[in-house]
Amino acid sequence: MELVFPKRAPAGAPTGSPVERLERLLAELEQRLSGLVERGLAACTRASFDGSGLEGGIADAIVTPEAVEDVLICVDACGRAGVPLTVRGGGTGRAGGAIPLRGGIVLVMTRLDAVAWQGEVLVAGAGARVAAVERALAERGQVLSARPYGDPAVSTLGGLIGSGGAAVHARRTGGLAPHVRRLQTVTGAGELIRTGALAAGPLPTWDLTRLLIGSEGGLAIVTEVALTGVTLRPTRRVVRVLRDSEALATALRAAGQDSSVAAGCWLSASAARALFDDGARVPDGGALWLTDEDAAPSAAKGSEAALSDLEGRLTAQLTAAHPRHTLVRFAPRIPIEIIASCIDAFETAATLAGLAAWCMGDELGTVHLVVAAPDDDPGRFERATDVLEGVVEAALDHGAAAVGAFGSGLLAPRWLRRERGMQLDLLNQLKTVFDPHGIMNPGKLPKTRR
Ligand SMILES: Cc1cc2nc3c(=O)[nH]c(=O)nc-3n(C[C@H](O)[C@H](O)[C@H](O)COP(=O)(O)OP(=O)(O)OC[C@H]3O[C@@H](n4cnc5c(N)ncnc54)[C@H](O)[C@@H]3O)c2cc1C
Repeated sequence: MELVFPKRAPAGAPTGSPVERLERLLAELEQRLSGLVERGLAACTRASFDGSGLEGGIADAIVTPEAVEDVLICVDACGRAGVPLTVRGGGTGRAGGAIPLRGGIVLVMTRLDAVAWQGEVLVAGAGARVAAVERALAERGQVLSARPYGDPAVSTLGGLIGSGGAAVHARRTGGLAPHVRRLQTVTGAGELIRTGALAAGPLPTWDLTRLLIGSEGGLAIVTEVALTGVTLRPTRRVVRVLRDSEALATALRAAGQDSSVAAGCWLSASAARALFDDGARVPDGGALWLTDEDAAPSAAKGSEAALSDLEGRLTAQLTAAHPRHTLVRFAPRIPIEIIASCIDAFETAATLAGLAAWCMGDELGTVHLVVAAPDDDPGRFERATDVLEGVVEAALDHGAAAVGAFGSGLLAPRWLRRERGMQLDLLNQLKTVFDPHGIMNPGKLPKTRR
């Protein structure tokens, strides 16, 4: 394994005003990466939003590398100029992770998309579309161990690694991380490093792969991923109507004990009615509980991947049904013991605030809380976030994880500070080692309090 540790920042800060530094940087990039730099306002604006609908900064330029060397050049030049660099895959993330909060360069990875088998391991460029990776795995009867909810034809493997790689059938597969053999990345210090090992078996000790997975482009840019797929057993879809949130908690607990349940997804009554014609059979306060359970091949129906599509389908449906509204959302992972009270508290708080609300979740305890805030109401975001924050705040006291899905991005820094405590100190120190110039996706990892 080739491993080159990142160097610390060289002494001396970049000279000149921010505008001068940016102009110098753009001139250098246009000269060294001719044809790969785009500065048009329309393109820069398009590359500055993602599936979250949140607003942040606007990129000053887009660089679309065709080779790892181009990434190295871009990181080196941005580091010397002290200009922010935000890495982007397909821009389908729901947390604003790919939004260039402080402007600068957006590095679009989609041309690094080669996919090839190397023995039993699939080696793919970070810009490979998830659909292309899934096709390659399917040649050997395998599937990706974490299907993201974003459109697989658009979202990239690097984006999935960047946002953590957990998803609906993570219960059975453990998510993406256990199946990643090796990552090739370019750190914010401009060093090419390889972590993990191609050889089979768990990740080696003293290895950085697990740290880099889910680091949202804040430490390093993933350029290549070596992974294995998984083979899922045949399943059939079972659908149950549950009378209330206590019955849902009981069903989730039972699923946690039952190894024949491969994946599960529940919808609140409002979400079930929004998605299914016969959703009205779910009583107020109740839920629709869908599971994929082991079945003999002859009885196998449905697919676990389809369960992971439900969140996207619900969002599309709500967006269409609520024009002139903004959907405000959060997705904590909540211990099953308190899930019923959290759901009830969320629905009550939304009713009191006069906001339409929906929720759904998976068998792991991830709960998607969605509130529609009317665009013509100036206090809409405050009221909507008050509803969400009240629930998350209470859940954190009982061991919830603020970020159960989507990644942290612009949504969760406030919660990371509360949840991670002293760990945040160490993360910030590590970030300084990986990213000595402070250019990598800045503004996302909250600073420590002291
Ligand atoms: C409904 C919904 C639910 C989701 N739930 C989950 C979930 O439970 N678990 C989960 O992991 N993800 C979740 N996601 C996010 C999902 O993983 C992304 O939609 C998709 O995988 C991101 O791919 P992308 O190429 O569009 O990434 P982008 O949106 O472009 O980027 C996502 C993040 O990854 C970083 N990134 C992109 N490329 C790289 C790279 N090459 N190297 C380093 N960092 C990079 C970006 O800076 C950004 O922080 C969800 C998305 C949706 C739409």
